[in-house]
Amino acid sequence: MNIVLLGPPGSGKGTQAQTLEKGHGWKYIGTGQILRSLLGRKDKMAAEARAYMDRGELVPDELMVKILLRETEEKWGGGLILDGFPRNLAQAQILETMLAKQNLRIDRVLLIELSEEEVVRRLTERTQCNQCGGIYSERLIICPRCGTPVAQRPDDSPDTIRRRLEVYRQQVEPLLDFYARRKILERIDGSGSVQDVANRVEISLKNR
Ligand code: AMP
Repeated sequence: MNIVLLGPPGSGKGTQAQTLEKGHGWKYIGTGQILRSLLGRKDKMAAEARAYMDRGELVPDELMVKILLRETEEKWGGGLILDGFPRNLAQAQILETMLAKQNLRIDRVLLIELSEEEVVRRLTERTQCNQCGGIYSERLIICPRCGTPVAQRPDDSPDTIRRRLEVYRQQVEPLLDFYARRKILERIDGSGSVQDVANRVEISLKNR
């Protein structure tokens, strides 16, 4: 099954994606995570993307798609969990075309919904490991999974959070119509614990 996860920053998409990957063996593709790990490796294309990321803006579609294809194309087939891509209507159309070339399609789009108040609270408290992608809901210093120092994401500052939420509303919300028309959009309540949300995700995946 190929799944797209949608939802505002901080709604728990990355965490749920990791749970789905472990539980079902589908491959996780998180574009934010890919970009951050490439920055650590002084990648030229990612360095170009950095200015946009630091401002909370979207990386231009052409550059983003080039990075996505270069980093992930060999993983396609056998089930995908896409987190952070597509981020706008143009990317959704590009994705549909790219998948169709390999006789693949998106089967389910899960929208994880969370209030803005809760989003801001979660983002200002979380830390993340750029090495293994671990996401923690508290201010840790060392990643408990791989022992690398963890940090607050530079784009989790209050001003950038506000900008990212604006970008989310403008760019992602039109995607909801696109996928609702294809009858593959499911809404998931993102409040409560990681396990609560994971249970709702599983119920939604089974109920079809
Ligand atoms: P995320 O970890 O998904 O919140 O992504 C962090 C940042 O990476 C975003 O604010 C964008 O600057 C960039 N980014 C991630 N995915 C995309 C995408 N599909 N299109 C454009 N920019 C992206």
